[in-house]
Amino acid sequence: MAMNCKPVPALDERINDIRLRTAEIVNEDILPNEDRLWASRREGESMEHRREVLELRAEIKEKVKKAGLWAPHLPKEYGGMGLDFLAHAYMNEVLAYAVGAASLFGVVAPNSGNESILVKYGTQSQKERWLLPLIDGVMESGFSMTEPENPGSDPRSLKTTAVRDGDHWVINGHKWFTSNGIDADFFIVMCRVVEPGAAPAVGDPMVQIIVPTTTKGVEIVRGIGIWGRRESDHCEVRYDDVRVPLENALGGVGQGHQAAQDRLGAGRIYHCMNSVGQMWRAFDLMVERARTREVHGGLLQDKQFIQGFIADSYIDIQAARLMTLHAAEKIDHGLQEARTDISAIKIFVPSAYSRVVDRAIQVWGAAGISNDLPLAQMYLGARTLRLADGPDEVHRILIAKNVLGQFAKGEGWDFGN
Ligand SMILES: Cc1cc2nc3c(=O)[nH]c(=O)nc-3n(C[C@H](O)[C@H](O)[C@H](O)COP(=O)(O)OP(=O)(O)OC[C@H]3O[C@@H](n4cnc5c(N)ncnc54)[C@H](O)[C@@H]3O)c2cc1C
Repeated sequence: MAMNCKPVPALDERINDIRLRTAEIVNEDILPNEDRLWASRREGESMEHRREVLELRAEIKEKVKKAGLWAPHLPKEYGGMGLDFLAHAYMNEVLAYAVGAASLFGVVAPNSGNESILVKYGTQSQKERWLLPLIDGVMESGFSMTEPENPGSDPRSLKTTAVRDGDHWVINGHKWFTSNGIDADFFIVMCRVVEPGAAPAVGDPMVQIIVPTTTKGVEIVRGIGIWGRRESDHCEVRYDDVRVPLENALGGVGQGHQAAQDRLGAGRIYHCMNSVGQMWRAFDLMVERARTREVHGGLLQDKQFIQGFIADSYIDIQAARLMTLHAAEKIDHGLQEARTDISAIKIFVPSAYSRVVDRAIQVWGAAGISNDLPLAQMYLGARTLRLADGPDEVHRILIAKNVLGQFAKGEGWDFGN
């Protein structure tokens, strides 16, 4: 079923035009080919099949570029659309209707987040060496922050060290869940700067360092198996006396935490925008099935249980969507102002997404968990999002802290701003 996307009366012509042209590509080029595009991720596919899929992906990417819809998150000078967050959110809810479409529009984590921080913190030579090839799609990257021995929820606990030695950094540490680790040409590694021989301490400044994956001492231990699959591209990585030039520091020493926050703040919004598009799709699939499936002498659409599913999913989607648009509008006015709203959507949207997909699976019966539909994959994705980029609890703490801080200043919360 094609996505029903019409102009939104309150939106300006430019954003409506972007949405309609995005929907055209989704409906004409991506949805009819979804089975083939997914197939690249399935085990046991032949090389010939894989080649065909890659060609198809390249054709669609070319069409997207010609339509001026490539890399909505990047400034125009870097070949992107130069959209602000709000316009991007309106576009994304359309493109994410099709599974995996984000990568066909040049905005796929972790590359997109790395691109954004390279744009903001990179030197001219870092941009030439790492950013431009990433945008062109001739390089891949990962972001290496979380460590197995230390809680990712508390970045102060990170223990990977960077020591200055002449004109080089020497990095030692153990990371995991470095996404895209199998294909990455370089990682942006979160390190704590320490004096030679010193143990890392909470107060030591943090820095992000660009590390080519072929550097001596970088060991991709494994692609961690997740959700019952033997392997994934979320990698365990060891850094053992890894030497890279001092100029590989991305931003200044002490800026590492802020750069990570910039990256994660934007990344959380992108994930929520994607979730809204996916919920829209799950909703359409559910309603379509309810209209045609006959059980116990009547169509599912005539059963009140199922009508309740439709109403509850409508409410979940519209609430998630409006909260995400609101947060996107706020982030355009500065990350700090938007932090409470980003945490709110980071909690609400994945759980609404889980509920919407859960109902769609239920309506489809056994078919709902089959590989014939995208629902099972969405279900796992929605659950995963409650952990990635910070678990729910950390975001609840942040919301409460900000609200209580406001009240402590003698002011109530202003929900309109
Ligand atoms: C699919 C996936 C992809 C990822 N990709 C990347 C990546 O590319 N790069 C990267 O660096 N990391 C990545 N991560 C890691 C992710 O950011 C961390 O898993 C996350 O920050 C949580 O850290 P942790 O797993 O160490 O859990 P912990 O910090 O050990 O937390 C465990 C649990 O404790 C609870 N908790 C934590 N703090 C509190 C509190 N204050 N009060 C009450 N309860 C609390 C929460 O329920 C939390 O889930 C990825 C994770 C996933 C699942």
